Amino acid sequence: MIAPSTLAPPARTTTGNGGLPAHISATAARGYLACGLRFYFERVACIARPVAPALHLGKAVHAGLRHLHAALWRGGDTSPAAVERAYGEAFDALEADEGPVAFDGTEGRDKAKKDGLRLLAAYMDSGEIPKERPRGVEVTLEEMVPGLDVPLCGTIDLVCHDLKIVDFKTAASRPDPDQAAFDAELQLVAYSILLEAATGETPPRMELVHLVKTKSPQVVRVSVPPPNDARKDRAVAMLDAAVQGIAEGRFHPAPGMQCGWCAYRDECAAWTGGAP
Ligand code: SF4
Repeated sequence: MIAPSTLAPPARTTTGNGGLPAHISATAARGYLACGLRFYFERVACIARPVAPALHLGKAVHAGLRHLHAALWRGGDTSPAAVERAYGEAFDALEADEGPVAFDGTEGRDKAKKDGLRLLAAYMDSGEIPKERPRGVEVTLEEMVPGLDVPLCGTIDLVCHDLKIVDFKTAASRPDPDQAAFDAELQLVAYSILLEAATGETPPRMELVHLVKTKSPQVVRVSVPPPNDARKDRAVAMLDAAVQGIAEGRFHPAPGMQCGWCAYRDECAAWTGGAP
Protein backbone atom coordinates (compact mmCIF):
# COMPACT_ATOMS: atom_id res chain seq x y z
CA MET A 1 0.00 0.00 0.00
CA ILE A 2 1.26 3.45 -0.86
CA ALA A 3 0.41 6.12 1.69
CA PRO A 4 -1.37 9.27 0.55
CA SER A 5 0.84 12.28 0.58
CA THR A 6 0.19 15.93 1.08
CA LEU A 7 3.57 16.80 -0.39
CA ALA A 8 3.86 18.31 -3.85
CA PRO A 9 7.02 18.64 -5.94
CA PRO A 10 8.62 21.97 -5.16
CA ALA A 11 7.83 24.73 -7.63
CA ARG A 12 11.17 26.38 -7.04
CA THR A 13 14.23 24.87 -8.70
CA THR A 14 17.20 25.37 -6.42
CA THR A 15 20.68 24.55 -7.59
CA GLY A 16 23.76 23.30 -5.79
CA ASN A 17 26.23 20.49 -6.36
CA GLY A 18 28.02 22.22 -9.24
CA GLY A 19 24.93 24.00 -10.49
CA LEU A 20 22.84 20.83 -10.83
CA PRO A 21 19.21 21.21 -9.72
CA ALA A 22 18.41 19.38 -6.49
CA HIS A 23 16.03 17.13 -8.49
CA ILE A 24 14.03 17.15 -11.71
CA SER A 25 10.35 16.55 -12.35
CA ALA A 26 8.60 16.07 -15.68
CA THR A 27 6.76 19.36 -15.11
CA ALA A 28 10.00 21.27 -14.54
CA ALA A 29 11.71 19.61 -17.51
CA ARG A 30 8.77 20.36 -19.78
CA GLY A 31 8.77 23.97 -18.65
CA TYR A 32 12.50 24.30 -19.22
CA LEU A 33 12.39 22.67 -22.65
CA ALA A 34 9.46 24.88 -23.72
CA CYS A 35 11.35 28.08 -22.88
CA GLY A 36 14.47 28.24 -20.74
CA LEU A 37 14.14 31.95 -20.10
CA ARG A 38 10.58 31.73 -18.83
CA PHE A 39 11.66 28.80 -16.65
CA TYR A 40 14.39 31.01 -15.19
CA PHE A 41 11.99 33.87 -14.39
CA GLU A 42 9.43 31.54 -12.86
CA ARG A 43 11.44 28.90 -11.02
CA VAL A 44 14.93 30.26 -10.46
CA ALA A 45 14.42 34.02 -10.00
CA CYS A 46 10.90 33.27 -8.62
CA ILE A 47 9.39 36.48 -10.02
CA ALA A 48 5.82 36.35 -8.73
CA ARG A 49 2.89 36.88 -11.11
CA PRO A 50 -0.88 36.73 -10.52
CA VAL A 51 -2.04 33.13 -10.71
CA ALA A 52 -3.99 32.23 -13.86
CA PRO A 53 -7.64 31.39 -12.98
CA ALA A 54 -7.45 28.08 -14.88
CA LEU A 55 -4.43 27.02 -12.82
CA HIS A 56 -6.11 28.04 -9.58
CA LEU A 57 -9.27 26.15 -10.50
CA GLY A 58 -7.27 23.07 -11.46
CA LYS A 59 -5.49 23.02 -8.08
CA ALA A 60 -8.75 23.40 -6.14
CA VAL A 61 -10.43 20.65 -8.19
CA HIS A 62 -7.44 18.41 -7.47
CA ALA A 63 -7.99 19.07 -3.76
CA GLY A 64 -11.60 17.88 -4.12
CA LEU A 65 -10.42 14.78 -5.99
CA ARG A 66 -7.76 14.17 -3.37
CA HIS A 67 -10.39 14.22 -0.64
CA LEU A 68 -12.61 11.78 -2.55
CA HIS A 69 -9.86 9.31 -3.42
CA ALA A 70 -8.21 9.49 0.00
CA ALA A 71 -11.62 8.82 1.58
CA LEU A 72 -11.95 5.77 -0.68
CA TRP A 73 -8.48 4.71 0.42
CA ARG A 74 -9.05 5.04 4.14
CA GLY A 75 -12.81 4.50 4.30
CA GLY A 76 -13.77 8.14 4.97
CA ASP A 77 -16.61 10.40 3.87
CA THR A 78 -17.03 10.16 0.07
CA SER A 79 -20.30 12.12 -0.04
CA PRO A 80 -20.65 14.94 -2.59
CA ALA A 81 -21.06 17.38 0.31
CA ALA A 82 -17.69 16.38 1.80
CA VAL A 83 -15.95 16.65 -1.60
CA GLU A 84 -17.52 20.06 -2.24
CA ARG A 85 -16.40 21.22 1.21
CA ALA A 86 -12.80 20.12 0.57
CA TYR A 87 -12.88 21.87 -2.80
CA GLY A 88 -14.33 25.10 -1.39
CA GLU A 89 -11.81 25.23 1.44
CA ALA A 90 -8.93 24.66 -1.00
CA PHE A 91 -10.26 27.29 -3.41
CA ASP A 92 -10.21 29.92 -0.64
CA ALA A 93 -6.99 28.75 1.03
CA LEU A 94 -5.01 28.63 -2.22
CA GLU A 95 -6.14 32.15 -3.03
CA ALA A 96 -4.88 33.35 0.36
CA ASP A 97 -1.62 31.37 0.22
CA GLU A 98 -0.61 31.59 -3.44
CA GLY A 99 -2.74 34.45 -4.80
CA PRO A 100 -3.62 36.92 -6.03
CA VAL A 101 -5.54 35.16 -8.79
CA ALA A 102 -6.22 37.09 -11.99
CA PHE A 103 -10.00 36.61 -11.84
CA ASP A 104 -12.17 38.82 -14.02
CA GLY A 105 -13.71 40.58 -10.98
CA THR A 106 -16.02 39.05 -8.36
CA GLU A 107 -18.26 37.65 -11.06
CA GLY A 108 -15.33 35.85 -12.65
CA ARG A 109 -14.34 34.43 -9.27
CA ASP A 110 -17.85 33.17 -8.54
CA LYS A 111 -18.11 31.62 -11.98
CA ALA A 112 -14.75 29.87 -11.60
CA LYS A 113 -15.79 28.50 -8.21
CA LYS A 114 -19.07 27.16 -9.62
CA ASP A 115 -17.25 25.66 -12.63
CA GLY A 116 -15.10 23.61 -10.26
CA LEU A 117 -18.15 22.33 -8.39
CA ARG A 118 -19.77 21.32 -11.70
CA LEU A 119 -16.62 19.46 -12.77
CA LEU A 120 -16.45 17.51 -9.50
CA ALA A 121 -20.17 16.70 -9.69
CA ALA A 122 -19.70 15.46 -13.28
CA TYR A 123 -16.84 13.20 -12.16
CA MET A 124 -18.80 11.81 -9.21
CA ASP A 125 -21.79 11.11 -11.51
CA SER A 126 -19.70 9.65 -14.32
CA GLY A 127 -19.10 6.16 -13.01
CA GLU A 128 -15.35 6.78 -13.50
CA ILE A 129 -14.58 6.68 -9.76
CA PRO A 130 -12.39 3.68 -8.86
CA LYS A 131 -14.52 0.71 -7.85
CA GLU A 132 -11.77 -0.79 -5.74
CA ARG A 133 -9.62 0.71 -3.02
CA PRO A 134 -6.73 2.68 -4.61
CA ARG A 135 -3.13 1.76 -3.84
CA GLY A 136 -2.19 5.41 -3.38
CA VAL A 137 -3.47 8.99 -3.61
CA GLU A 138 -1.26 11.93 -4.59
CA VAL A 139 1.80 9.76 -4.23
CA THR A 140 5.02 11.77 -4.12
CA LEU A 141 8.06 9.79 -5.22
CA GLU A 142 11.74 10.63 -5.62
CA GLU A 143 14.14 8.08 -7.09
CA MET A 144 17.59 7.97 -8.65
CA VAL A 145 17.17 6.77 -12.23
CA PRO A 146 19.95 5.53 -14.54
CA GLY A 147 20.85 8.27 -17.03
CA LEU A 148 20.08 11.18 -14.70
CA ASP A 149 22.58 13.02 -12.47
CA VAL A 150 19.85 14.11 -10.01
CA PRO A 151 16.81 12.35 -8.51
CA LEU A 152 13.63 12.20 -10.54
CA CYS A 153 10.57 13.32 -8.58
CA GLY A 154 6.85 13.57 -9.21
CA THR A 155 3.43 13.33 -7.59
CA ILE A 156 0.96 10.84 -9.09
CA ASP A 157 -2.70 11.83 -8.63
CA LEU A 158 -4.00 8.28 -8.27
CA VAL A 159 -2.49 4.79 -8.23
CA CYS A 160 -5.29 2.24 -8.70
CA HIS A 161 -5.49 -1.17 -7.07
CA ASP A 162 -3.81 -2.78 -10.11
CA LEU A 163 -1.06 -0.10 -10.13
CA LYS A 164 -2.65 1.77 -13.05
CA ILE A 165 -1.50 5.40 -13.05
CA VAL A 166 -4.19 8.08 -13.36
CA ASP A 167 -3.56 11.77 -13.91
CA PHE A 168 -6.41 14.29 -13.79
CA LYS A 169 -6.58 17.36 -16.01
CA THR A 170 -9.05 20.21 -16.10
CA ALA A 171 -9.68 21.47 -19.63
CA ALA A 172 -11.70 24.19 -21.33
CA SER A 173 -12.62 22.06 -24.33
CA ARG A 174 -12.86 18.40 -25.20
CA PRO A 175 -9.31 17.12 -25.88
CA ASP A 176 -8.20 15.19 -28.93
CA PRO A 177 -7.09 11.84 -27.43
CA ASP A 178 -3.91 11.45 -29.54
CA GLN A 179 -2.82 15.03 -28.88
CA ALA A 180 -3.56 14.71 -25.14
CA ALA A 181 -1.50 11.52 -24.93
CA PHE A 182 1.36 13.12 -26.88
CA ASP A 183 1.33 16.23 -24.65
CA ALA A 184 1.40 14.16 -21.46
CA GLU A 185 3.92 11.57 -22.66
CA LEU A 186 6.90 12.87 -20.66
CA GLN A 187 4.85 13.19 -17.48
CA LEU A 188 3.22 9.74 -17.74
CA VAL A 189 6.42 7.92 -18.68
CA ALA A 190 8.26 9.64 -15.81
CA TYR A 191 5.51 8.47 -13.43
CA SER A 192 5.79 4.95 -14.77
CA ILE A 193 9.58 4.95 -14.28
CA LEU A 194 9.15 6.31 -10.73
CA LEU A 195 6.49 3.81 -9.73
CA GLU A 196 8.43 0.90 -11.14
CA ALA A 197 11.57 2.02 -9.26
CA ALA A 198 9.63 2.45 -6.00
CA THR A 199 7.60 -0.78 -6.07
CA GLY A 200 9.50 -3.17 -8.35
CA GLU A 201 6.23 -3.68 -10.23
CA THR A 202 5.36 -2.48 -13.74
CA PRO A 203 2.22 -0.32 -14.02
CA PRO A 204 -0.13 -2.02 -16.54
CA ARG A 205 -1.15 1.27 -18.18
CA MET A 206 -1.63 4.99 -17.66
CA GLU A 207 -4.75 7.08 -17.99
CA LEU A 208 -5.55 10.75 -18.36
CA VAL A 209 -8.94 11.78 -17.00
CA HIS A 210 -10.00 15.16 -18.36
CA LEU A 211 -12.69 17.13 -16.55
CA VAL A 212 -13.96 19.40 -19.31
CA LYS A 213 -15.59 22.77 -18.54
CA THR A 214 -18.10 22.66 -21.39
CA LYS A 215 -21.64 23.95 -20.83
CA SER A 216 -22.54 20.47 -19.76
CA PRO A 217 -19.28 19.25 -18.11
CA GLN A 218 -17.75 16.10 -19.55
CA VAL A 219 -15.38 13.46 -18.24
CA VAL A 220 -13.03 12.21 -20.97
CA ARG A 221 -10.72 9.30 -20.29
CA VAL A 222 -7.65 8.72 -22.48
CA SER A 223 -5.80 5.45 -22.05
CA VAL A 224 -2.06 5.30 -22.73
CA PRO A 225 -0.15 1.99 -23.04
CA PRO A 226 2.77 1.30 -20.69
CA PRO A 227 6.10 2.60 -22.01
CA ASN A 228 8.60 0.32 -23.73
CA ASP A 229 12.36 0.85 -23.35
CA ALA A 230 12.50 3.28 -26.29
CA ARG A 231 9.87 5.56 -24.72
CA LYS A 232 11.64 5.41 -21.37
CA ASP A 233 15.00 6.25 -22.99
CA ARG A 234 13.43 9.20 -24.80
CA ALA A 235 11.89 10.50 -21.55
CA VAL A 236 15.17 10.18 -19.63
CA ALA A 237 17.02 11.94 -22.47
CA MET A 238 14.56 14.84 -22.31
CA LEU A 239 14.82 15.04 -18.53
CA ASP A 240 18.62 14.95 -18.77
CA ALA A 241 18.64 17.72 -21.41
CA ALA A 242 16.76 19.89 -18.92
CA VAL A 243 19.06 18.97 -16.02
CA GLN A 244 22.21 19.76 -18.00
CA GLY A 245 20.74 22.98 -19.42
CA ILE A 246 19.81 24.22 -15.94
CA ALA A 247 23.21 23.17 -14.53
CA GLU A 248 25.01 25.07 -17.27
CA GLY A 249 22.82 28.15 -16.88
CA ARG A 250 21.39 27.98 -20.40
CA PHE A 251 18.29 30.12 -20.10
CA HIS A 252 17.41 31.41 -23.56
CA PRO A 253 14.19 32.73 -25.07
CA ALA A 254 12.23 30.31 -27.25
CA PRO A 255 9.72 32.48 -29.12
CA GLY A 256 6.60 30.61 -30.12
CA MET A 257 2.92 30.14 -29.45
CA GLN A 258 3.56 30.04 -25.70
CA CYS A 259 4.60 33.73 -25.75
CA GLY A 260 0.91 34.57 -26.20
CA TRP A 261 0.18 33.67 -22.58
CA CYS A 262 3.63 34.28 -21.06
CA ALA A 263 3.58 36.52 -17.98
CA TYR A 264 7.24 37.54 -18.42
CA ARG A 265 7.10 39.36 -21.75
CA ASP A 266 8.64 42.57 -20.31
CA GLU A 267 11.50 40.74 -18.64
CA CYS A 268 12.02 38.73 -21.81
CA ALA A 269 12.20 41.86 -23.96
CA ALA A 270 14.95 43.20 -21.68
CA TRP A 271 17.12 40.10 -22.23
CA THR A 272 20.11 40.89 -24.44
CA GLY A 273 22.05 37.66 -24.25
CA GLY A 274 24.08 35.70 -21.75
CA ALA A 275 22.91 34.79 -18.26
CA PRO A 276 19.67 36.56 -17.34
S1 SF4 B 1 7.85 35.78 -24.06
FE1 SF4 B 1 8.17 33.79 -25.07
S2 SF4 B 1 10.40 33.66 -25.41
FE2 SF4 B 1 10.03 35.25 -23.88
S3 SF4 B 1 10.22 34.25 -21.88
FE3 SF4 B 1 8.05 34.23 -22.46
S4 SF4 B 1 7.73 32.27 -23.49
FE4 SF4 B 1 9.93 32.64 -23.45
